[in-house]
Amino acid sequence: MSNALPKIAWIGLGIMGSPMSENLIKAGYDVTGFTLEQDKLERLAAAGGTAAGSIAEAVRDADVVITMVPASPQVEAISYGPDGILENARSGALLIDMSSITPQTSVGLAKAAKDKGIRVLDAPVSGGEAGAIEAVLSIMVGGEQADFDQAKPIFEALGKTIVLCGPHGSGQTVKAANQLIVAVNIQACAEAVVFLEKSGVDLQAALDVLNGGLAGSTVLTRKRDNFLNRDFKPGFRIDLHHKDMGIVTDAARNVGAALPVGAVVAQLVASLRAQGDGGLDHSALLRAVERLSGAQV
Ligand code: NAD
Repeated sequence: MSNALPKIAWIGLGIMGSPMSENLIKAGYDVTGFTLEQDKLERLAAAGGTAAGSIAEAVRDADVVITMVPASPQVEAISYGPDGILENARSGALLIDMSSITPQTSVGLAKAAKDKGIRVLDAPVSGGEAGAIEAVLSIMVGGEQADFDQAKPIFEALGKTIVLCGPHGSGQTVKAANQLIVAVNIQACAEAVVFLEKSGVDLQAALDVLNGGLAGSTVLTRKRDNFLNRDFKPGFRIDLHHKDMGIVTDAARNVGAALPVGAVVAQLVASLRAQGDGGLDHSALLRAVERLSGAQV
């Protein structure tokens, strides 16, 4: 690769992909994108990127292809087949999948890509929409050291904490652990909110002082206003956290790790989704606790 910045193709311009790709444009990268929604393509063009009409068109000239789609089936759909990334990207390109998917899917993708001369990193993120906008994401990476080193400047335009966790799939395993911790943390906060309100304590004051002590967390900082205002606009959709609880439950079973509290929270997430709240932010776990506590919400 020359001294010029690598040419980027970005597939998947959703809640995370749009602001992340815009941060690369701000950092001087040439970004060509493709996604399913026309308005998101227009947003990319307005930010200084190039909207492509297909995956093939987006990836054809790219040095680095970045993907940020919902789950394993979408990663497979955009990667494989005659219209997919592996068939249409040039040999020598680096494919960085930043979606949160199963570790096995990442391992399989790396193997299939190798046959085409394409290198792969799994690089899921944590930090939510706000972290994406502010370019302060935590990025957990699986793959080869040399590929990680090449991708580092790109990651530095997107996040603050950037760690190579091990071979292919390791980034996804760490992300699964992240999602376990976040879900359990939100659930504990939601239970505290209902308990505090029913006890007649000033909720705002309580959350402020709690966040200054050992109970404080990034979850409480980022989701405080969602709890106070019952604002459940996503953010991170319950549907996606349901997917992630499935990933961590399955991965833990495979290695014989027991997740008793995680299993209960996975059920609460599934129940919330079954009740029609799958499109809400994951802070809507509060609604599940409220219902269990007798509220009609
Ligand atoms: P989203 O649903 O907002 O966006 C997904 C995008 O993928 C959409 O724009 C869609 O058009 C695109 N897409 C899907 N299938 C496609 C295809 N076949 N071809 C082209 N584009 C396709 O999702 P999101 O919230 O941005 O999440 C993306 C990933 O990041 C997920 O794996 C999620 O778990 C993870 N994540 C999300 C957050 C968050 O707070 N939203 C935080 C960390 C990680």
